[in-house]
Amino acid sequence: MLSYASELLDPGKGNLYIAIALFGVVVLNATFTFIQEYQAEQIMASFRQLIPPVAKVLRDGEIKEILAPELVVGDVIFIEEGDKVPADGRLIEENTLKVDNSSLTGEAEPQLRSLECTHPNVLECRNMVFSGTLVLTGNGKAVVYGTGHNTQMGKLATLTEQTTSVETPLRKELNNFIRIISIIAIFLGISFFTIGFVTQDLFLLNLIFAIGIIVANVPEGLLPTVTLSLSLASKRMAKRNALIKRLESVETLGSTTVICTDKTGTLTQNKMAIHSMTLGFEQIDVSNGEVPPDILMKVAVLCNNSRLVEGPSRYKGDPTEGALLMYASRFTDIDQIRENNTRLKEYSFDSLKERMQVIYHTDSDEQESYLKGATEVVIKMCDHVLMDGDEVPITEDDRNELLDMHLKIAGRGERVLALAYRRAEEEIEYDTGFTFIGFAGAVDPHRPEVKDAIHRCHRAGIKVVMITGDHPVTALSIAKNVGFSSNGHEPVMITGAELDKLSIDELSKKLKAPYIIFARTSPVQKLKIVQAFQSRGEIVTMTGDGVNDAPAIKNADMGVAMGSGTDVARESADMILLDDNFATIVNAVEEGRTVFDNIKKFIAYILTSNIPEILPFIAFVLLSIPCP
Ligand code: ADP
Ligand code: MG
Repeated sequence: MLSYASELLDPGKGNLYIAIALFGVVVLNATFTFIQEYQAEQIMASFRQLIPPVAKVLRDGEIKEILAPELVVGDVIFIEEGDKVPADGRLIEENTLKVDNSSLTGEAEPQLRSLECTHPNVLECRNMVFSGTLVLTGNGKAVVYGTGHNTQMGKLATLTEQTTSVETPLRKELNNFIRIISIIAIFLGISFFTIGFVTQDLFLLNLIFAIGIIVANVPEGLLPTVTLSLSLASKRMAKRNALIKRLESVETLGSTTVICTDKTGTLTQNKMAIHSMTLGFEQIDVSNGEVPPDILMKVAVLCNNSRLVEGPSRYKGDPTEGALLMYASRFTDIDQIRENNTRLKEYSFDSLKERMQVIYHTDSDEQESYLKGATEVVIKMCDHVLMDGDEVPITEDDRNELLDMHLKIAGRGERVLALAYRRAEEEIEYDTGFTFIGFAGAVDPHRPEVKDAIHRCHRAGIKVVMITGDHPVTALSIAKNVGFSSNGHEPVMITGAELDKLSIDELSKKLKAPYIIFARTSPVQKLKIVQAFQSRGEIVTMTGDGVNDAPAIKNADMGVAMGSGTDVARESADMILLDDNFATIVNAVEEGRTVFDNIKKFIAYILTSNIPEILPFIAFVLLSIPCP
């Protein structure tokens, strides 16, 4: 504008070209920025396509997984803890099902479901589940009556098609930086103009140089450059299985100082296999042709929600339970067992209770409860132990001996499950009266890439923290295997029970060590771990996959969800690991650090290149040398 004005005032001095050139710069810059931002949006949208919503549905008499948009009215869907409900449905079966309807109704409390219609308003009615809401506990079956736009959520979504854009810290910082630089540039421009005008009395020439100085100094290329490097990095990361939800997360990743990671599935492969099985106080020696007794097979097969499938994955569902099924299928026909016994009730596994209990009507026309879970939990519930086929009252010595046996198995890095049963007079969740059957020890090979990734973290000064529900002995054995120690730095062990007693301040004092293991920890305790690290000023990356991990994931600076994890976890995360792999987090952190460095370099470049750009002008004005 100013150059064009000069042209009008004093035609023919070339000011028109300057005006055109400057206009070109502005247009180019705007176009470039637009393209960058647009592409970044597209990339983020394409990431969302990589993890399409799926639904478990009954088709042709079988449970199938299909894409959620392929559901039709009348389908019977299965929902369980951690799922996002794929359509509106009426419940026809439920086991302690609780849902989070807050995205629909705004009610923050978990809503208990039942099979009765409790209210004329569908939204208030307990036998309904709604598309887009989250299953917090339990499981259920529902008949679909609404899909797509014909759901409660669909109606809401059409009402308010909203997009939210937030100012991220990086954006704020950069805008601030640009503002300061621009003020300096304008100030410089005006001062030079004034000095030049006073000393040389050349109004137009000085005006043009003032404009030149302002244009040269305003860092107009900064934002597009930052967006460009962030979106390039996010693309590179996606190729390496790390999907980020917001561009700016790349930068948070780069500044991470602590990575808190799950053990099961992230450091290990989550390919469980039963390695050892005990009966009473004896090891079952299958290589000698010994066959586990029926009751052990029943607990293994019936207190179990996995199922065997054809194909390389071999089972669907919880890997620990899959391993039990595979083991049992070597000795018996598991379909037969499942057909001949009827499940009456399930009290599902959760990481807080560390046990799962089911009640069955058995083939011998009795009612029995089958239990499996963590040793300490199960042993306390047993008053008998199975010895040579007889139920013998358990003594305190027996209990200690069993605990010792369990430590031996755990010391080999195996996850130990204790199995027990009792007669069930009623359909309730029992706490006592069980007969201990034996231990199942499951091995889960660690991921080969993890060791190197942990060393890279150590070299980069990043703390690695293992969090697991397993026993400390199992955890330590696996930690050693993946290189969780280096020249004299032994890992610090904190158990869930200790964690409960510590205040955040006390805890944060314990978090100096480079390697820390939290064992027998429940996911809800992860939030406290995040807060303790943050109170030390650390930038925390935290992984998780379950419903209970969500608060910690949300509160961590960088929340990371497993691609195989629950919808709930993925909703609250900043980044999703398609391959569940710890090494992928470390790769992403390195990517983030590179970008961060590049942005810093670019800013340094802008600042330093401005000085040589301005010097000739200063010389021209002050020393009255010919115009450069
Ligand atoms: P992690 O956080 O490492 O996945 P979990 O909380 O899943 O640990 O498991 C904690 C303990 O609970 C295990 O050591 C095991 O004894 C027991 N456990 C794990 N899975 C099951 C299951 N499906 N049923 C019963 N008990 C289980
Ligand atoms: Mg687990």
